[in-house]
Amino acid sequence: MKHRWNVTILGVRGSIPMPDADFLGYGGHTSCVAVDCGAELVVLDAGSGLSRLRPSPRPGGQMRLDILLSHMHLDHIMGLPGCRALYDPDAEVHLYGEAREGRSLCAQLETLVGPPYWPLKLAEFPARVEFHEVGPGDTFRLAGRAGLPGVTVHTLRGNHPNQSLLYRLEEGSRRVIYALDCETGAALRPALEDFARDGDLLIWDATFTEEELAGRPGWGHSSWQQGAVLGRAAGVRLTLMTHYSWQYPDSLLEAQERLAAAQGAGICFAREGMEIQL
Ligand SMILES: [Zn+2]
Ligand SMILES: [Zn+2]
Repeated sequence: MKHRWNVTILGVRGSIPMPDADFLGYGGHTSCVAVDCGAELVVLDAGSGLSRLRPSPRPGGQMRLDILLSHMHLDHIMGLPGCRALYDPDAEVHLYGEAREGRSLCAQLETLVGPPYWPLKLAEFPARVEFHEVGPGDTFRLAGRAGLPGVTVHTLRGNHPNQSLLYRLEEGSRRVIYALDCETGAALRPALEDFARDGDLLIWDATFTEEELAGRPGWGHSSWQQGAVLGRAAGVRLTLMTHYSWQYPDSLLEAQERLAAAQGAGICFAREGMEIQL
């Protein structure tokens, strides 16, 4: 019998954290999703929600995190100093992302996590930190464990200011697609549909309502309706909306979720703390 994957939503906001009381029904932390694949604990983006993660050792006793970064915008990396595993001398933290404009992944991250913005550079934390530079169209394996097949990761270029990477995690027939900070459109749509094909879970950029999105071309974001259409066309079992505008309180998101529910099954709005088993 194949083991299950457990997906935990740790942060749901775009741009900046929003810890006001009328935002906390959905959540105030910026983007972070943990996927416990058994042998691997994969973290998708290092938004402020990363501080909620209490990682446990992998089978065999190793403490290891694999953090896949979609891009360097603050809301996707600001949680790194709150990553508990970085303070554990027995832990390994593997960071994946793009080298950009002649700057290594490490150099980009240490612009934020390093003096004068943070007292330690990433390499100076107690944990062993390794950097893995990846790009669009890449396929790579995570470490896994002897005797287990391990997770394979595929990437796709996202349409976003300063660009982004979308990720697909695969093991056997199981697929989780992470597509945040991406403005869909006619040009990208076929590639997105292929990338998400037959997914068990599509984690989607639902930053703006359709009404607001119409006035935000070039901002690099999408709507839940676009995710619903894409998910259905690609044969995805569940499309999970997240990365909500930091200006949308619970009341607005509840109204959007009611509209989505009227479209039938297969759509879900993320809330912090939500767990999904695959
Ligand atoms: Zn973002
Ligand atoms: Zn962004």
